[in-house]
Amino acid sequence: MASAKQNNNELMEKIVSFSKRRGFVFPGSEIYGGFANSYSYGPYGSELKTNIKNLWWKNFVRSREDMVGIDGPIMLNPRLWAASGHTSGFNDAMVDCKECKKRFRADHLVEAATGKDLEGDLAKLNEALKDGKIKCPNCGKSNWTDARNLNLMFKTQMNGIDEDVYLRPETAGAIFADFKAVTDSMRVKIPFGIAQIGKAFRNEIIAGNFIFRLREFEQMEIEYFIDPEMKWEGKFEEWLELQEKFAMALGAPKDSLRRHEHPKEKLSHYSRKTVDIEYLFPFGWGELYGLAHRGDFDLTKHAEFSGTKLDYFDQVTNRRFVPHVLEPTFGLDRSILVALSAAYHEEDLGEGDIRTVMKFPVALAPVKIAVFPLLKNKPQLVDKAKEIFSVLQKEYTCEFDDNGNVGKRYRRQDEIGTPYCLTIDFDTLEDESVTVRDRDTMEQQRIKISDLKDYFKEKLV
Ligand SMILES: [Zn+2]
Repeated sequence: MASAKQNNNELMEKIVSFSKRRGFVFPGSEIYGGFANSYSYGPYGSELKTNIKNLWWKNFVRSREDMVGIDGPIMLNPRLWAASGHTSGFNDAMVDCKECKKRFRADHLVEAATGKDLEGDLAKLNEALKDGKIKCPNCGKSNWTDARNLNLMFKTQMNGIDEDVYLRPETAGAIFADFKAVTDSMRVKIPFGIAQIGKAFRNEIIAGNFIFRLREFEQMEIEYFIDPEMKWEGKFEEWLELQEKFAMALGAPKDSLRRHEHPKEKLSHYSRKTVDIEYLFPFGWGELYGLAHRGDFDLTKHAEFSGTKLDYFDQVTNRRFVPHVLEPTFGLDRSILVALSAAYHEEDLGEGDIRTVMKFPVALAPVKIAVFPLLKNKPQLVDKAKEIFSVLQKEYTCEFDDNGNVGKRYRRQDEIGTPYCLTIDFDTLEDESVTVRDRDTMEQQRIKISDLKDYFKEKLV
Protein backbone atom coordinates (compact mmCIF):
# COMPACT_ATOMS: atom_id res chain seq x y z
CA MET A 1 0.00 0.00 0.00
CA ALA A 2 1.44 3.32 -1.03
CA SER A 3 0.77 6.34 1.04
CA ALA A 4 0.80 9.76 -0.58
CA LYS A 5 2.68 11.72 2.07
CA GLN A 6 4.30 14.51 0.13
CA ASN A 7 5.67 17.45 2.02
CA ASN A 8 4.54 20.02 -0.46
CA ASN A 9 1.86 22.41 -1.46
CA GLU A 10 -0.05 19.76 -3.33
CA LEU A 11 -0.71 17.95 -0.07
CA MET A 12 -1.67 21.25 1.59
CA GLU A 13 -4.16 22.01 -1.19
CA LYS A 14 -5.61 18.53 -0.85
CA ILE A 15 -6.10 19.00 2.88
CA VAL A 16 -7.73 22.41 2.39
CA SER A 17 -10.20 21.16 -0.21
CA PHE A 18 -10.82 17.91 1.68
CA SER A 19 -11.52 19.88 4.87
CA LYS A 20 -14.17 21.92 3.11
CA ARG A 21 -15.73 19.04 1.20
CA ARG A 22 -16.07 16.82 4.26
CA GLY A 23 -17.25 19.39 6.80
CA PHE A 24 -14.04 19.97 8.78
CA VAL A 25 -13.03 23.55 7.95
CA PHE A 26 -14.93 26.09 5.86
CA PRO A 27 -13.65 29.46 4.59
CA GLY A 28 -15.22 32.16 6.81
CA SER A 29 -18.03 34.35 5.41
CA GLU A 30 -17.75 32.50 2.11
CA ILE A 31 -21.13 33.62 0.75
CA TYR A 32 -19.82 37.20 1.02
CA GLY A 33 -16.65 36.34 -0.83
CA GLY A 34 -14.71 35.31 2.26
CA PHE A 35 -13.13 37.47 4.94
CA ALA A 36 -9.49 38.04 5.78
CA ASN A 37 -8.25 34.46 6.08
CA SER A 38 -10.86 33.48 8.63
CA TYR A 39 -12.29 29.98 8.90
CA SER A 40 -15.19 28.14 10.49
CA TYR A 41 -14.86 24.69 11.93
CA GLY A 42 -17.65 22.63 10.40
CA PRO A 43 -19.61 19.82 12.06
CA TYR A 44 -16.71 17.30 12.00
CA GLY A 45 -14.08 19.99 12.55
CA SER A 46 -15.77 21.26 15.67
CA GLU A 47 -15.98 17.69 17.02
CA LEU A 48 -12.26 17.28 16.29
CA LYS A 49 -11.51 20.59 18.00
CA THR A 50 -13.57 19.66 21.06
CA ASN A 51 -11.81 16.30 21.26
CA ILE A 52 -8.38 17.98 21.18
CA LYS A 53 -9.42 20.45 23.89
CA ASN A 54 -10.81 17.64 26.03
CA LEU A 55 -7.67 15.57 25.61
CA TRP A 56 -5.54 18.56 26.63
CA TRP A 57 -7.72 19.43 29.62
CA LYS A 58 -7.71 15.78 30.74
CA ASN A 59 -3.91 15.50 30.36
CA PHE A 60 -2.91 18.79 31.90
CA VAL A 61 -5.68 19.68 34.36
CA ARG A 62 -7.90 16.77 35.45
CA SER A 63 -5.23 14.10 35.77
CA ARG A 64 -2.77 16.28 37.70
CA GLU A 65 -2.85 17.34 41.31
CA ASP A 66 -0.63 20.35 40.66
CA MET A 67 -2.90 22.03 38.09
CA VAL A 68 -6.14 23.99 38.14
CA GLY A 69 -8.04 25.58 35.26
CA ILE A 70 -9.73 28.93 34.74
CA ASP A 71 -11.81 30.54 32.00
CA GLY A 72 -11.11 34.26 31.90
CA PRO A 73 -12.58 37.11 29.85
CA ILE A 74 -11.37 38.16 26.40
CA MET A 75 -11.58 41.85 27.32
CA LEU A 76 -9.54 42.81 30.35
CA ASN A 77 -8.59 46.03 32.08
CA PRO A 78 -6.36 47.90 29.59
CA ARG A 79 -3.82 48.55 32.38
CA LEU A 80 -3.02 44.86 32.24
CA TRP A 81 -1.65 45.16 28.71
CA ALA A 82 0.40 48.18 29.70
CA ALA A 83 1.89 46.10 32.52
CA SER A 84 2.75 43.16 30.28
CA GLY A 85 4.37 45.46 27.70
CA HIS A 86 1.87 44.68 24.94
CA THR A 87 0.59 48.25 24.57
CA SER A 88 4.02 49.62 23.80
CA GLY A 89 6.00 46.68 22.54
CA PHE A 90 3.79 44.08 20.85
CA ASN A 91 4.63 45.08 17.31
CA ASP A 92 5.53 43.67 13.94
CA ALA A 93 7.34 45.72 11.32
CA MET A 94 5.29 46.21 8.17
CA VAL A 95 6.33 47.61 4.85
CA ASP A 96 4.37 48.41 1.69
CA CYS A 97 5.46 47.97 -1.91
CA LYS A 98 5.05 51.40 -3.56
CA GLU A 99 4.58 49.79 -6.97
CA CYS A 100 1.84 47.23 -6.34
CA LYS A 101 0.66 48.43 -2.89
CA LYS A 102 1.01 44.99 -1.31
CA ARG A 103 1.84 44.87 2.39
CA PHE A 104 4.43 42.55 3.93
CA ARG A 105 6.17 41.84 7.20
CA ALA A 106 9.51 43.57 6.79
CA ASP A 107 11.49 41.05 8.85
CA HIS A 108 10.08 38.13 6.84
CA LEU A 109 11.05 39.78 3.53
CA VAL A 110 14.57 40.51 4.71
CA GLU A 111 15.05 37.08 6.22
CA ALA A 112 13.84 35.32 3.06
CA ALA A 113 16.31 37.33 0.95
CA THR A 114 19.35 37.44 3.23
CA GLY A 115 18.88 34.72 5.82
CA LYS A 116 19.28 37.39 8.52
CA ASP A 117 16.71 37.55 11.30
CA LEU A 118 16.32 41.27 12.04
CA GLU A 119 12.98 41.01 13.86
CA GLY A 120 12.53 44.00 16.16
CA ASP A 121 15.34 46.11 14.64
CA LEU A 122 13.57 48.77 12.58
CA ALA A 123 16.75 50.66 11.65
CA LYS A 124 18.53 47.62 10.24
CA LEU A 125 15.38 46.47 8.44
CA ASN A 126 15.11 49.84 6.67
CA GLU A 127 18.79 49.76 5.77
CA ALA A 128 18.34 46.31 4.21
CA LEU A 129 15.21 47.37 2.31
CA LYS A 130 16.96 50.45 0.86
CA ASP A 131 19.77 48.66 -0.98
CA GLY A 132 17.58 47.44 -3.85
CA LYS A 133 18.30 43.75 -3.43
CA ILE A 134 15.04 42.84 -1.74
CA LYS A 135 12.41 42.32 -4.39
CA CYS A 136 8.65 42.42 -3.91
CA PRO A 137 7.38 38.80 -3.97
CA ASN A 138 4.29 40.07 -5.79
CA CYS A 139 5.63 42.35 -8.56
CA GLY A 140 9.40 41.84 -8.50
CA LYS A 141 10.25 45.54 -8.04
CA SER A 142 12.23 47.01 -5.18
CA ASN A 143 10.56 50.24 -4.16
CA TRP A 144 9.62 50.18 -0.51
CA THR A 145 8.03 52.55 1.97
CA ASP A 146 9.79 52.88 5.30
CA ALA A 147 9.20 49.90 7.53
CA ARG A 148 7.11 50.90 10.54
CA ASN A 149 5.82 49.20 13.62
CA LEU A 150 2.24 48.03 13.80
CA ASN A 151 0.78 47.09 17.17
CA LEU A 152 -0.80 43.67 16.83
CA MET A 153 -3.61 44.15 19.34
CA PHE A 154 -7.18 44.65 18.13
CA LYS A 155 -8.80 47.71 19.66
CA THR A 156 -12.41 48.19 20.53
CA GLN A 157 -14.58 50.51 22.65
CA MET A 158 -16.68 49.72 25.65
CA ASN A 159 -19.55 51.74 27.11
CA GLY A 160 -18.47 53.63 30.19
CA ILE A 161 -14.76 53.17 29.50
CA ASP A 162 -12.90 56.15 28.08
CA GLU A 163 -9.73 54.46 26.96
CA ASP A 164 -9.25 51.85 24.23
CA VAL A 165 -10.13 48.31 25.19
CA TYR A 166 -8.23 45.46 23.57
CA LEU A 167 -9.16 41.96 22.56
CA ARG A 168 -6.61 39.85 24.40
CA PRO A 169 -3.57 38.98 22.25
CA GLU A 170 -2.89 35.93 24.45
CA THR A 171 -4.76 34.08 27.16
CA ALA A 172 -1.93 34.38 29.70
CA GLY A 173 -3.01 37.85 30.90
CA ALA A 174 -6.10 36.58 32.68
CA ILE A 175 -4.07 33.87 34.41
CA PHE A 176 -1.72 36.42 35.97
CA ALA A 177 -4.64 38.72 36.80
CA ASP A 178 -6.31 35.83 38.64
CA PHE A 179 -3.18 34.53 40.36
CA LYS A 180 -4.23 36.06 43.69
CA ALA A 181 -7.84 34.90 43.37
CA VAL A 182 -6.67 31.35 42.67
CA THR A 183 -4.15 31.21 45.53
CA ASP A 184 -6.73 32.75 47.90
CA SER A 185 -9.51 30.35 46.97
CA MET A 186 -7.75 27.07 46.25
CA ARG A 187 -5.32 25.04 48.27
CA VAL A 188 -2.60 25.12 45.64
CA LYS A 189 0.96 24.41 46.73
CA ILE A 190 3.97 25.47 44.75
CA PRO A 191 4.95 24.20 42.22
CA PHE A 192 1.51 24.48 40.62
CA GLY A 193 0.03 25.59 37.34
CA ILE A 194 -3.02 27.46 36.10
CA ALA A 195 -4.36 26.41 32.70
CA GLN A 196 -6.71 28.10 30.31
CA ILE A 197 -8.16 27.46 26.86
CA GLY A 198 -9.60 30.32 24.89
CA LYS A 199 -9.60 32.69 21.98
CA ALA A 200 -6.92 35.28 21.39
CA PHE A 201 -6.66 37.94 18.70
CA ARG A 202 -3.68 39.34 16.84
CA ASN A 203 -3.89 41.83 14.02
CA GLU A 204 -1.29 39.98 11.96
CA ILE A 205 0.03 41.84 8.92
CA ILE A 206 -0.28 38.69 6.86
CA ALA A 207 -2.45 35.75 7.86
CA GLY A 208 -2.17 32.57 5.87
CA ASN A 209 -1.26 28.95 5.39
CA PHE A 210 -4.85 27.90 6.02
CA ILE A 211 -5.47 27.70 9.79
CA PHE A 212 -1.76 28.05 10.66
CA ARG A 213 -1.69 31.83 11.05
CA LEU A 214 -5.05 33.33 11.95
CA ARG A 215 -5.97 36.71 13.37
CA GLU A 216 -8.58 35.10 15.60
CA PHE A 217 -7.28 31.87 17.06
CA GLU A 218 -7.42 29.67 20.11
CA GLN A 219 -4.71 28.93 22.64
CA MET A 220 -4.23 26.35 25.35
CA GLU A 221 -1.89 27.93 27.87
CA ILE A 222 -0.36 27.13 31.21
CA GLU A 223 1.48 29.30 33.71
CA TYR A 224 3.43 26.95 35.93
CA PHE A 225 4.61 28.69 39.11
CA ILE A 226 7.83 27.56 40.75
CA ASP A 227 10.00 28.52 43.70
CA PRO A 228 12.67 30.95 42.41
CA GLU A 229 15.25 28.89 44.23
CA MET A 230 14.18 25.65 42.58
CA LYS A 231 16.50 24.00 40.09
CA TRP A 232 14.24 24.59 37.11
CA GLU A 233 16.11 22.85 34.29
CA GLY A 234 14.58 19.44 35.02
CA LYS A 235 11.03 20.82 35.14
CA PHE A 236 11.67 22.72 31.91
CA GLU A 237 12.76 19.54 30.15
CA GLU A 238 9.77 17.69 31.62
CA TRP A 239 7.36 20.25 30.15
CA LEU A 240 9.04 20.09 26.75
CA GLU A 241 8.64 16.34 26.73
CA LEU A 242 4.98 16.62 27.73
CA GLN A 243 4.40 19.06 24.88
CA GLU A 244 6.05 16.70 22.40
CA LYS A 245 4.06 13.80 23.79
CA PHE A 246 0.86 15.77 23.31
CA ALA A 247 1.77 16.47 19.67
CA MET A 248 2.37 12.75 19.20
CA ALA A 249 -1.02 11.98 20.76
CA LEU A 250 -2.49 14.06 17.92
CA GLY A 251 -0.80 11.72 15.45
CA ALA A 252 2.47 13.59 14.80
CA PRO A 253 5.32 11.12 14.14
CA LYS A 254 8.33 11.74 16.41
CA ASP A 255 10.57 12.64 13.47
CA SER A 256 8.13 15.36 12.35
CA LEU A 257 8.91 17.32 15.52
CA ARG A 258 12.00 19.29 16.39
CA ARG A 259 13.09 21.82 19.00
CA HIS A 260 14.30 25.31 18.27
CA GLU A 261 15.94 27.08 21.18
CA HIS A 262 15.94 30.86 20.94
CA PRO A 263 19.51 32.17 20.92
CA LYS A 264 20.46 34.15 24.03
CA GLU A 265 20.63 37.47 22.15
CA LYS A 266 17.03 37.06 20.93
CA LEU A 267 15.61 36.32 24.38
CA SER A 268 13.59 38.93 26.25
CA HIS A 269 15.67 40.32 29.10
CA TYR A 270 13.62 38.42 31.71
CA SER A 271 13.59 35.03 29.98
CA ARG A 272 16.13 32.43 31.00
CA LYS A 273 15.27 30.05 28.20
CA THR A 274 12.71 29.77 25.40
CA VAL A 275 12.22 26.75 23.16
CA ASP A 276 9.79 26.36 20.26
CA ILE A 277 8.54 22.95 19.29
CA GLU A 278 8.24 22.89 15.53
CA TYR A 279 6.26 20.52 13.36
CA LEU A 280 6.89 19.59 9.75
CA PHE A 281 3.66 20.94 8.26
CA PRO A 282 2.92 20.20 4.58
CA PHE A 283 4.30 23.68 3.76
CA GLY A 284 7.48 23.15 5.81
CA TRP A 285 8.65 23.53 9.41
CA GLY A 286 6.52 25.84 11.53
CA GLU A 287 6.16 26.72 15.19
CA LEU A 288 3.62 24.52 16.93
CA TYR A 289 4.14 24.96 20.68
CA GLY A 290 6.43 27.04 22.85
CA LEU A 291 7.92 26.91 26.32
CA ALA A 292 9.44 29.90 28.08
CA HIS A 293 11.01 30.50 31.47
CA ARG A 294 9.74 34.01 32.20
CA GLY A 295 11.25 34.52 35.64
CA ASP A 296 9.13 36.75 37.90
CA PHE A 297 8.60 39.37 35.17
CA ASP A 298 4.83 38.99 34.85
CA LEU A 299 3.81 38.84 38.51
CA THR A 300 6.22 41.66 39.37
CA LYS A 301 4.88 43.90 36.60
CA HIS A 302 1.23 43.16 37.39
CA ALA A 303 1.90 43.84 41.08
CA GLU A 304 3.54 47.14 40.20
CA PHE A 305 0.80 48.31 37.81
CA SER A 306 -2.14 47.07 39.88
CA GLY A 307 -0.82 47.99 43.30
CA THR A 308 -1.77 44.51 44.51
CA LYS A 309 0.78 42.23 46.11
CA LEU A 310 1.28 39.11 44.01
CA ASP A 311 3.45 36.84 46.05
CA TYR A 312 3.24 33.46 47.66
CA PHE A 313 3.85 32.23 51.18
CA ASP A 314 5.46 28.83 51.26
CA GLN A 315 4.42 27.04 54.46
CA VAL A 316 7.00 24.31 53.93
CA THR A 317 10.03 26.62 53.92
CA ASN A 318 8.40 29.54 55.76
CA ARG A 319 9.39 31.93 53.00
CA ARG A 320 7.47 34.59 51.12
CA PHE A 321 8.46 35.14 47.49
CA VAL A 322 7.28 36.09 44.02
CA PRO A 323 7.19 32.79 42.12
CA HIS A 324 8.97 32.29 38.84
CA VAL A 325 6.97 30.92 35.98
CA LEU A 326 7.36 28.38 33.19
CA GLU A 327 4.94 29.04 30.37
CA PRO A 328 4.00 26.16 28.06
CA THR A 329 1.71 27.38 25.25
CA PHE A 330 -0.13 25.26 22.73
CA GLY A 331 -1.80 26.59 19.59
CA LEU A 332 -5.16 24.89 19.23
CA ASP A 333 -5.73 25.68 15.55
CA ARG A 334 -2.20 24.52 14.77
CA SER A 335 -2.92 21.34 16.73
CA ILE A 336 -5.94 20.80 14.50
CA LEU A 337 -3.74 21.31 11.43
CA VAL A 338 -1.31 18.71 12.82
CA ALA A 339 -4.16 16.26 13.38
CA LEU A 340 -5.48 16.81 9.85
CA SER A 341 -2.12 16.58 8.09
CA ALA A 342 -0.87 13.61 10.10
CA ALA A 343 -4.14 11.71 9.61
CA TYR A 344 -4.54 12.32 5.87
CA HIS A 345 -3.70 9.18 3.87
CA GLU A 346 -4.40 8.08 0.35
CA GLU A 347 -4.06 4.34 -0.06
CA ASP A 348 -3.75 2.69 -3.44
CA LEU A 349 -5.87 -0.47 -3.27
CA GLY A 350 -4.98 -1.42 -6.87
CA GLU A 351 -6.77 -1.01 -10.21
CA GLY A 352 -7.00 2.73 -9.80
CA ASP A 353 -8.89 2.44 -6.52
CA ILE A 354 -7.63 5.11 -4.11
CA ARG A 355 -8.93 5.06 -0.55
CA THR A 356 -8.81 8.39 1.28
CA VAL A 357 -8.66 7.67 4.99
CA MET A 358 -8.15 9.94 7.98
CA LYS A 359 -6.16 7.87 10.44
CA PHE A 360 -7.02 9.92 13.51
CA PRO A 361 -6.07 8.54 16.90
CA VAL A 362 -9.40 7.21 18.28
CA ALA A 363 -9.60 9.92 20.94
CA LEU A 364 -9.66 12.55 18.18
CA ALA A 365 -12.01 10.91 15.67
CA PRO A 366 -15.12 13.12 15.23
CA VAL A 367 -17.33 10.04 14.91
CA LYS A 368 -16.36 6.90 16.82
CA ILE A 369 -18.86 4.38 15.46
CA ALA A 370 -21.03 4.29 12.35
CA VAL A 371 -24.06 2.01 12.34
CA PHE A 372 -25.46 0.60 9.10
CA PRO A 373 -28.49 -1.57 8.35
CA LEU A 374 -27.42 -3.70 5.37
CA LEU A 375 -30.51 -2.63 3.39
CA LYS A 376 -32.61 0.43 4.01
CA ASN A 377 -35.83 -1.05 2.67
CA LYS A 378 -35.94 -3.94 5.16
CA PRO A 379 -37.71 -2.65 8.29
CA GLN A 380 -36.50 -5.51 10.49
CA LEU A 381 -32.85 -4.58 9.69
CA VAL A 382 -33.46 -0.84 10.08
CA ASP A 383 -35.29 -1.31 13.41
CA LYS A 384 -32.53 -3.50 14.79
CA ALA A 385 -29.87 -1.05 13.61
CA LYS A 386 -31.73 1.89 15.19
CA GLU A 387 -32.02 -0.02 18.44
CA ILE A 388 -28.25 -0.67 18.58
CA PHE A 389 -27.52 2.89 17.45
CA SER A 390 -29.57 4.42 20.25
CA VAL A 391 -27.74 2.33 22.86
CA LEU A 392 -24.23 3.20 21.56
CA GLN A 393 -25.12 6.84 21.02
CA LYS A 394 -25.51 7.31 24.75
CA GLU A 395 -21.78 6.76 25.19
CA TYR A 396 -20.13 7.59 21.88
CA THR A 397 -20.49 10.00 19.00
CA CYS A 398 -22.21 7.79 16.43
CA GLU A 399 -23.56 8.19 12.95
CA PHE A 400 -26.39 6.28 11.32
CA ASP A 401 -26.08 5.69 7.59
CA ASP A 402 -28.39 3.65 5.36
CA ASN A 403 -27.59 5.38 2.09
CA GLY A 404 -26.03 3.45 -0.83
CA ASN A 405 -24.14 0.18 -0.70
CA VAL A 406 -22.12 -0.77 2.36
CA GLY A 407 -18.81 -0.40 0.50
CA LYS A 408 -19.58 3.24 -0.23
CA ARG A 409 -20.66 3.84 3.35
CA TYR A 410 -17.34 2.42 4.56
CA ARG A 411 -15.47 4.86 2.32
CA ARG A 412 -17.48 7.83 3.57
CA GLN A 413 -16.62 6.90 7.15
CA ASP A 414 -12.94 6.28 6.25
CA GLU A 415 -12.80 9.81 4.91
CA ILE A 416 -13.90 11.34 8.18
CA GLY A 417 -11.76 8.92 10.19
CA THR A 418 -14.45 6.82 11.92
CA PRO A 419 -12.55 3.96 13.61
CA TYR A 420 -15.40 1.42 13.55
CA CYS A 421 -18.35 0.62 11.30
CA LEU A 422 -21.00 -1.76 12.42
CA THR A 423 -23.33 -3.57 9.98
CA ILE A 424 -26.63 -5.20 10.85
CA ASP A 425 -27.52 -7.93 8.34
CA PHE A 426 -29.95 -10.84 8.07
CA ASP A 427 -27.69 -13.09 10.16
CA THR A 428 -27.97 -10.54 12.97
CA LEU A 429 -31.65 -11.38 13.30
CA GLU A 430 -30.70 -15.05 13.83
CA ASP A 431 -27.45 -14.94 15.83
CA GLU A 432 -27.64 -11.55 17.63
CA SER A 433 -24.23 -10.63 16.18
CA VAL A 434 -23.06 -7.76 13.98
CA THR A 435 -20.11 -7.20 11.64
CA VAL A 436 -17.58 -4.74 13.01
CA ARG A 437 -15.14 -3.33 10.48
CA ASP A 438 -11.85 -1.69 11.44
CA ARG A 439 -10.90 1.56 9.64
CA ASP A 440 -7.15 0.95 9.47
CA THR A 441 -6.95 -2.78 8.71
CA MET A 442 -10.34 -2.95 6.94
CA GLU A 443 -10.73 -6.31 8.65
CA GLN A 444 -14.17 -7.44 9.71
CA GLN A 445 -15.23 -9.56 12.64
CA ARG A 446 -18.50 -10.78 14.06
CA ILE A 447 -19.26 -9.53 17.55
CA LYS A 448 -22.22 -10.48 19.74
CA ILE A 449 -24.50 -7.51 20.37
CA SER A 450 -24.30 -8.21 24.10
CA ASP A 451 -20.48 -7.90 23.91
CA LEU A 452 -20.42 -4.60 22.01
CA LYS A 453 -20.27 -2.37 25.07
CA ASP A 454 -17.21 -4.16 26.46
CA TYR A 455 -15.64 -4.36 23.01
CA PHE A 456 -15.83 -0.60 22.46
CA LYS A 457 -14.93 0.21 26.04
CA GLU A 458 -11.61 -1.45 25.35
CA LYS A 459 -11.10 -0.05 21.85
CA LEU A 460 -12.32 3.50 22.32
CA VAL A 461 -10.45 4.69 25.38
ZN1 LIG B 1 5.09 44.95 -5.41
